[in-house]
Amino acid sequence: MQKFYGQGHKATYIPALNNVNAQQFALTLIDKEGHIFSVGDDKVCFSIQSVSKVISLTMALNEVGEELWGRMDREPSGKAFDSLIHLEENNGIPSNPFLNSGAIVMADVLLEIYGDHTVDKYLHLMRRITGNETLQIDDKIYKSEKFNGHKNYAFANYIKSYGNIYNDVEDVLDVYFKFCSLSLTNLDLTKAFYYLMNKGQSLEGFQVTTPRHCKRINSLMFTCGTYNEVGDFAYLVGLPVKSSVSGAIAGCLPGAYTVSVWSPELNEKGNSYLGFKALEQLTTELDSSYLS
Ligand code: GLU
Repeated sequence: MQKFYGQGHKATYIPALNNVNAQQFALTLIDKEGHIFSVGDDKVCFSIQSVSKVISLTMALNEVGEELWGRMDREPSGKAFDSLIHLEENNGIPSNPFLNSGAIVMADVLLEIYGDHTVDKYLHLMRRITGNETLQIDDKIYKSEKFNGHKNYAFANYIKSYGNIYNDVEDVLDVYFKFCSLSLTNLDLTKAFYYLMNKGQSLEGFQVTTPRHCKRINSLMFTCGTYNEVGDFAYLVGLPVKSSVSGAIAGCLPGAYTVSVWSPELNEKGNSYLGFKALEQLTTELDSSYLS
């Protein structure tokens, strides 16, 4: 493995993310029958970061359905995940739910519905779909995010100035940062994503969402899930996946398998360098992809 390390860089803008050993890698695949194939550092905990946006999208669609699209669009932005430009052009309407701005609006949507219980609802769902009752928010990551989240404060305030955030900015960001700070292993993450491969039903048979929502979430991952590298991911990997700055990439081939990779060194677009390479190799060797 050693020869593959050192080609990317850990995210440092959240200082606590810099505290992980960069030279780690895990790949886990779970097939439809529930067989688990897993290699590498699959029991090491990391923070879920942007992959949590898939879970908030699931919760938001379950609660408000199509109304969500009155608050955000469904278009790839072609910009970095922390770019403000599109928000100005769209009068405070995020381009898609997987940008920080979109996820902050989803946090607001969920806060409207669940109030003080929002983070508990999220934790409860994550524990249920991973089958891991011990999952927790990593307090060090959460605090590091909060004290260094200047751009996220800018997004939230900017969106609020257009009336597209209803709650107090501080409360909304608290939910958003806590969602991103959930600590889990690559094994947990792969189990969590099983419902997206299985028409909404989790590994343990719980109906997380509807088949129709699954179709939509997978489509959004395919078109917006990997920052401004979605074209290359679609071309080279060909699966609906969501990536994060902690170096995780999780996704599925609907009806066949769910897969996650984790390796903290990121490429220049913010996607896991090794994770991307591994998924490219996996779908090439399995000769499987979303559209063929
Ligand atoms: N918590 C991170 C942030 O808000 C998430 C970014 C990501 O993983 O894309 O900046």
